Amino acid sequence: MQRTVKWKTPRRPGPKKASDIEKDPVGVYCRIRPLGAENEECCVEMISSTTIQLHAPDGLKTNRNGEYKEMQYSFKKVFGINTTQMELFEDVAKPLVEDLILCKNGLLFTYGVTGSGKTYTMTGSPGEGGLLPRCLDMLFNSIGPFQAKRFVFKPDDKNGMEIQCQVDALLERQKREYQHSVPKTPSSRQKVDPEFTDMISSEQECKSENVVEDCCYTVFVSYIEVYNNYIYDLLEDASFDTMRSKPPQSRILREDQNHIMYVAGCTEVEVKSTDEAFEVFWKGQKKRRIANTQLNRESSRSHSVFTIKLAQAPLDADGDHILQDKNQVSVSQLCLVDLAGSERTSRTRAEGSRLREAGNINQSLMTLRTCIEVLRENQMCGTNKMVPYRDSKVTHLFKNYFDGEGKVRMIVCVNPKADEYDESLLVMRFAEMTQEVEVARPIDRPIYGLAPGRRYKNQAFRDELTNRQEERGGPIKDYFEIGMSYHWLIESLPALPSCELVDPSDDQTLPRLIEVLEKRHRIRQMRTDQYNKTANTLRSMLQQLDGQVAAKETFLYEQRSKLNEKEKVILNQKTALEQLEKKSKTLQYKVDVLQKTTEMFEQDKHSLQQELETCEQRLHKELTDKRRMEQRMQGVVTDAKRKWEKECERQVHAKQLEMQNKLWVKDEKLKQLKAIVTESGGGSGSGSDGSAEPPRKPERPSRERERAAAQKRSASPSPHPMALPVHPIHRRSHSADGEKWVDHNPPNNLELETVMQPILPNAIKVSTPNEKALSKCHKYVLRHQELASDGEIETKLIKGDVFKTRAGGQAVQFTDVEVLKQECPTAPSRKRRSGSAGRAAHVEDIENRAPVASNVYQKRRKP
Ligand code: ADP
Ligand code: MG
Repeated sequence: MQRTVKWKTPRRPGPKKASDIEKDPVGVYCRIRPLGAENEECCVEMISSTTIQLHAPDGLKTNRNGEYKEMQYSFKKVFGINTTQMELFEDVAKPLVEDLILCKNGLLFTYGVTGSGKTYTMTGSPGEGGLLPRCLDMLFNSIGPFQAKRFVFKPDDKNGMEIQCQVDALLERQKREYQHSVPKTPSSRQKVDPEFTDMISSEQECKSENVVEDCCYTVFVSYIEVYNNYIYDLLEDASFDTMRSKPPQSRILREDQNHIMYVAGCTEVEVKSTDEAFEVFWKGQKKRRIANTQLNRESSRSHSVFTIKLAQAPLDADGDHILQDKNQVSVSQLCLVDLAGSERTSRTRAEGSRLREAGNINQSLMTLRTCIEVLRENQMCGTNKMVPYRDSKVTHLFKNYFDGEGKVRMIVCVNPKADEYDESLLVMRFAEMTQEVEVARPIDRPIYGLAPGRRYKNQAFRDELTNRQEERGGPIKDYFEIGMSYHWLIESLPALPSCELVDPSDDQTLPRLIEVLEKRHRIRQMRTDQYNKTANTLRSMLQQLDGQVAAKETFLYEQRSKLNEKEKVILNQKTALEQLEKKSKTLQYKVDVLQKTTEMFEQDKHSLQQELETCEQRLHKELTDKRRMEQRMQGVVTDAKRKWEKECERQVHAKQLEMQNKLWVKDEKLKQLKAIVTESGGGSGSGSDGSAEPPRKPERPSRERERAAAQKRSASPSPHPMALPVHPIHRRSHSADGEKWVDHNPPNNLELETVMQPILPNAIKVSTPNEKALSKCHKYVLRHQELASDGEIETKLIKGDVFKTRAGGQAVQFTDVEVLKQECPTAPSRKRRSGSAGRAAHVEDIENRAPVASNVYQKRRKP
């Protein structure tokens, strides 16, 4: 029963667009080997952990091209002369092994001139194992207990991987064991070839944590050599002796259906431990060495490619067997390449002379340089030039690593010897260019859809089975062997001689016949005995088998009952699950109802909020209105208050003046009486004829007094001829008196186009009263404008007398007020005075009154 499993291609993620693919540059590392001799001139200096500087040797510094400068080159990391193999492995190769376990491909190659330490880096020496044995060691340390049985995975010859069931694998194992073709796993290191013992000291066990315990792994290794652009299989089963007579057959490269390059018909050896793998490698290495000597080849001109192929497949649901599903099998490979020396000069002939021999350039490395150049150009300039992979076998083999996905790493090995300066320069330039090439990052594989912990879940079961088998006797192989040992049973019996009697005296034919017949009888007897014996053995074996079958049946019965129990449990769980589902549905329904209710409430809340907002707005408006009204009312109140205050003031003033006048009148009367008394007491007969002296004028030093007396006279009738009673309201204004006036018209007064205007000839018009103007005049008038409560502009002409003060200044005594006011005859002024409506109308009135206004001239006498 065989199944062909196609490789899961880790390279071509179909639906991904080119722009989506993440890329990493080729990781380029530099390793400087120690100088061969201490007194040698050195041309390489390690400046930092990532940079080196090349110093031109003395003789080369004056090159006319200026080519030999002190050049610096940077790498991902530089490893100095004291770097151990372990340190290098940790940085460079360990991530590749990690990736290998994670089903990602990797390519690691060493590049440099011959003697720069490429082989030392890749293979190492006893005690100082290189990257290759360390990679193997890490891989087997990681997958050790999870390895599949031999022959479960089986490579086909189309770079595919076949997977066999356990029984087929067992049979194939036995067949190979019989042919002694399976390398016995070395149980201890003593058995190992002393040439490569202790490649890896067990000081530090390196292990990956990426191993999936529920998977089965297996490792295949292959080892090829490319010389003169021919591929040779180093693991081919050909003895060394035949090599001389028949040179090794070269192999061809093919591309599988996933576009992965492979060497057709190349030997792939399944290995189960580091030692076994390294033994296989060492065998190939030996073969390579022998071929080189026998065929007179220069080893530095060949490339060696050691491929570690890791196949992995998950265990089935029981954790007992490998899942027989070809889609779940993954194959990844790590390619370790020790390239040929990159030097262009022939070592033998040009050593020390630095003669360039272009003809000796290794064609494969030339192609590698070209490929890298084109790749870089394509990636940097967006061009689509064809990369000439096919021009050499090595580059063709690398094609899928550069074009597909995976990690590509290069270790540039440098010999710091000054003699190598020229070549080292070229190596550095190539390294710099390589760093600029990018390779698609491999995508992570999805985790298998089976429950984890399968392997350990069934460990007990497997142990139980093994114990039972051991108890019941030997393995099936015994029966097979028994069958094989009785092959003689079917061998033919000795042939009967001719029994034709032609001569009666023939006494030989019959005895011979008798002899043969007896022999045949004996053989038959023996066979019968043997047959019986075998039959007995087989019978007993069959009985044994019967017993085993019975035991198995019992076991099966037990298992079945266990299964039944489990089924019951499952059934119970199913019922519980159904109940839970029902409950969940009910809850879901409740949740739905609650959600709907919430939505309704939410809507209610929203509408109420809107209502609230409208109310608030209304309230706000009302408040504003109220405030405005309050302000208006305050205005009205203030107006009324001011008016009443003025009225009161005016009345108080009038009263005061009245009282003063009365006082003056009384005073005058008193004086007249006094004069009469004095006249009657001092004169004789003078009063009767009227020739008596007129009464003495009272002393009136100021105009004030005169005016006051006049007022007194006018205010009250008196017997004195001066005090003529004149009602003040009938008195004409002083405006046309011919006296000199100071006309005070404040600048903010409006010019009203009224018909009635005060006419003041000889008046000095001032906007602010000043002493100069006042000193020249006797009269003063102030034009005072104010807004009456009915909204009309009221002009008051406040008149007064100017008199000199004792201190030499000027003072005005207000004596009279004339009011000039316009009124609209259509609007009753009384009504307009009340309420805010009246106020609004008042503004309108001022605007409209001019055409219909009638002038009203009121004159009031100040009491
Ligand atoms: P290449 O393979 O490049 O031709 P080798 O690996 O054969 O060079 O190295 C040449 C010699 O230099 C070997 O004897 C090797 O042991 C020694 N050598 C190279 N690199 C180192 C190193 N880093 N430390 C010690 N010895 C080294
Ligand atoms: Mg080498």
